[in-house]
Amino acid sequence: MSIDFGNDIYEEPLVAKTFLQEDAQEGSLRPRTLADYIGQEKAKENLAVFIEAAKRRQEALDHVLLHGPPGLGKTTLAGIIAQEMGSGIRITSGPAIEKPGDLAALLTNLNEGDILFVDEIHRLNRSVEEILYPAMEDYALDIIVGKGPSANSIRLDLPKFTLIGATTRAGQLSAPLRDRFGVTLRLELYTPEELARIVTRSAGILDVNIVPSGAYEIARRSRGTPRIANRMLRRVRDFAQVKADGVITETVADEALCALEIDHLGLDPVDRRMLHAIIENYRGGPVGLETLAATIGEESVTLEDVYEPYLMQLGFLTRTPRGRCVTRKAYAHLGLSVPGDDPEMEQLRI
Ligand code: ADP
Repeated sequence: MSIDFGNDIYEEPLVAKTFLQEDAQEGSLRPRTLADYIGQEKAKENLAVFIEAAKRRQEALDHVLLHGPPGLGKTTLAGIIAQEMGSGIRITSGPAIEKPGDLAALLTNLNEGDILFVDEIHRLNRSVEEILYPAMEDYALDIIVGKGPSANSIRLDLPKFTLIGATTRAGQLSAPLRDRFGVTLRLELYTPEELARIVTRSAGILDVNIVPSGAYEIARRSRGTPRIANRMLRRVRDFAQVKADGVITETVADEALCALEIDHLGLDPVDRRMLHAIIENYRGGPVGLETLAATIGEESVTLEDVYEPYLMQLGFLTRTPRGRCVTRKAYAHLGLSVPGDDPEMEQLRI
């Protein structure tokens, strides 16, 4: 098997948190109903109750905050909520709303019961956020007309809408904004079994021939994240078509993912660089996030949002007040011995 199938033909890593060209088909893979949305049982159970209650009262659903790492299904869930409520949805993101006027335009164009989905809501700027408080609380917009001493504030009524905010970092939301959400749901990384169901479902939609053990192989290597599982499925499909007879078996999935430098637990070269850097440059930690990011030439937000959640779930990395530390499990995975366990290494440390 030649390695040129690997990352050379794909410019972006599988874990990229930005939207990739190859994600263009993502829309067709999105489940449309709560019943089709696999996993996240706790969040689904709570939502089903809130949706039913709001429908019975014929009221707009309370504002919902969804948080969790990228690619776990926050946008998908917002679409499902709209579908289940039978309401319209407008999709935007924190950085896209630059001025208070942009938000005012969005809000005044909503219909009664509509949903406004704001992705990356922690990146809203302060002046925009302040407009949002009365909008969320009283369904009203306070507009300043005129300038200087003759300036006047007028209050404009808004339709009763539901704000769904999504964020990868709930901790960065200001307290007044966080408090105005009636429902907060935390999405968790998916289990390999749930991801295998997602891969099988996506394969059905994309008309890809896959056997259950092939789906499971992709699932257990997709770091708990449906978006990555779907990306892997597409790349493994290419591999299966070129190198095998088009069927994704466990062996085909394994060979394709190895060619993409994804190891058996789903770690990619950046994960491994990160762990090696902590071990080799900082004796296993603790090391501050910024220092670590500079050492391996990645952005600290990417490490924090994309790489760390999975490494922590695997029990390879811990966050301490003094910085990040690598665990014994990570040494074992990389085939290294823990310094304290090795008399020769211990001498080197002195
Ligand atoms: P986020 O908004 O959290 O970054 P998305 O909602 O865009 O994530 O989800 C990424 C992709 O993963 C979607 O296109 C969808 O196909 C898939 N996906 C996410 N959650 C699920 C789920 N629970 N069941 C099936 N597919 C899912």
